[in-house]
Amino acid sequence: MHQSPVEAAPKAELHIHLEGSLEPDMLLALAQRNGVSIPYSNADELRAAYDFANLQEFLELYWAGQSVLRTERDFYDLAHAYLARAHRDNVVHAEAYILPQGHTPRGVPFAAVLDGALAAFEDARHAFGITGGLILGLNRHESEADALAVVDSARPWRDRILALGLEGPEKGNPPSKFTRIYDVARDLGWHLTAHAGEEGPPEYIIEALDVLRVERIDHGVRCEQDPALVRRLAEAQVPLTVCPLSNAMLKVFPRLEDHNLRRLLQAGLCVTVNSDDPPYFGGYVNANYTKASAALGLTVDEQYQILRNGFVAAFIHDDLRSRYLRELESAWSASRQ
Ligand SMILES: [Zn+2]
Repeated sequence: MHQSPVEAAPKAELHIHLEGSLEPDMLLALAQRNGVSIPYSNADELRAAYDFANLQEFLELYWAGQSVLRTERDFYDLAHAYLARAHRDNVVHAEAYILPQGHTPRGVPFAAVLDGALAAFEDARHAFGITGGLILGLNRHESEADALAVVDSARPWRDRILALGLEGPEKGNPPSKFTRIYDVARDLGWHLTAHAGEEGPPEYIIEALDVLRVERIDHGVRCEQDPALVRRLAEAQVPLTVCPLSNAMLKVFPRLEDHNLRRLLQAGLCVTVNSDDPPYFGGYVNANYTKASAALGLTVDEQYQILRNGFVAAFIHDDLRSRYLRELESAWSASRQ
């Protein structure tokens, strides 16, 4: 299949939820394998449900999807399927959220979640050369004590976890709720990120930076409501992991054409493009690049800048970062001959 230069380019993906990469076919297969009943009687009904109309329908589907994930093998299969699919989009470095709080309350062992996903990353490194790892996600609507329990449970995997992240409904759950948890994670040597400024106000982005001291912001698109914050993000080159198709689907912007990705890029911010929950939001990372490019009229130089930002923003050693930036540069100039 012919790919455009932006599709063919080596790229990093920094904002993807493994649970949100569950395809309808795998959901059905796992439901059958584990004997879990789901509120969809066949594949067509389930595929129709993936074409949800609002946030509530999305969440109901999302929760039903989570319930089929039970064993270490399930988490391996889930992560492996994502990594194999990402490889087809020429993702060479992937940092993926995993959310133990979505599973352990159902009786799934913490070790099954982490060991399954980590083994898939290990195998993908050998099979596809993909680097990266896991961002340990915390549900922001759950308590600080719950969050601390997650971090404590993760201690045996301390050296195999890349970062701590915060996800879930923003409103009423400011980043400052997790200040102490982020202090613990920093002491464990993890990188730090958090969802902020997707549905929440610019103040949440400021809190994530000043109080949680995160290195990058997931989404962050509502920073535009605060010009001083936009200037600050540009000056400090704080990366934003933007997910255009997700934002359009969840009506953060009325239409993809209204997305501020290009304006933020032109304001000098380090914006990256990512897929968030790809089968739910209409595409993997390449679809995000191509559809956003078409809707916003991104120039080839802007596409290159965004691809580059992905590696600049990645939680990797500078040697590897330099290698990826060189590979991107040579692939990009070759594809544009
Ligand atoms: Zn997300």
